[in-house]
Amino acid sequence: MLQVTDLVKHYAGAEHNVFDGISFSVPKGKVLVIVGPSGSGKSTLLRTIAGLEPIQGGTISLDGQVIETGKPGNENSGRAKRPEALRTKFGMVFQSYELFPNKDVLGNITMAPILVQKRKKAEAEREAMQLLERVGLADRAHAKPHELSGGQRQRVAICRALILHPEILLLDEITAALDPEMVHEVLEVVVELADAGQTMLIVTHEMQFARAIADRVILLADGKIVDRSTDPEQFFTDPQTERAKEFLHSFD
Ligand code: ATP
Ligand code: MG
Repeated sequence: MLQVTDLVKHYAGAEHNVFDGISFSVPKGKVLVIVGPSGSGKSTLLRTIAGLEPIQGGTISLDGQVIETGKPGNENSGRAKRPEALRTKFGMVFQSYELFPNKDVLGNITMAPILVQKRKKAEAEREAMQLLERVGLADRAHAKPHELSGGQRQRVAICRALILHPEILLLDEITAALDPEMVHEVLEVVVELADAGQTMLIVTHEMQFARAIADRVILLADGKIVDRSTDPEQFFTDPQTERAKEFLHSFD
């Protein structure tokens, strides 16, 4: 269970806090979808949970253990200082893939396990091939990123996160840069992960997908969670708050 309590996030020099104390939890094996207008802090939220950004208040806990406590005034302290064992509990996939251009698919996926986790190359490559099989890309193992389509690159980026066996997978608009015909092949992989019990926090503008995959939803705006639901079907088809109605209307 991931528990976020009274989270405060402030960027150096900014007038307002991005978050003014927000709380939510995600049980193991469940999918939280985070929606909200541009600039509402969705990416910031994923980055703070992944430990890529320090927090200025509140706590982040995993399975009852506090892994991060906010400290006011630590805006410039770089990424949160988490021990390796805690850092790899979170895997993140970004809109822009961020693959290494001069490494092939297998090299991209096995780099962290070999260099950071000191796993044997042959063993890491074996697991990488299994993951590529799972996302339908086993035949592209030796291709370079520029030889792949956007949808293929994003599936490689997902494999690169999965090989570290993250307890929680954080997906930040992973289909936003894709041509429409490639969105489906990536979302299909995410649905399979959810079915396999992978705990995920997903930021997306694909409302149909969100409705299908979410166990819970939060709507971020103005530094707060302005609506939340454990009934995604209702949230997306018959929203109960004005803020949610207004937000969902913008997709009509
Ligand atoms: P989008 O839907 O456009 O991706 P978002 O909901 O992901 O938006 P964030 O990128 O988290 O929003 O940004 C939240 C707020 O924090 C914005 O006001 C943004 O300008 C600000 N912000 C984001 N990153 C930084 C940064 N590195 N330094 C300072 N301010 C930042
Ligand atoms: Mg964003």
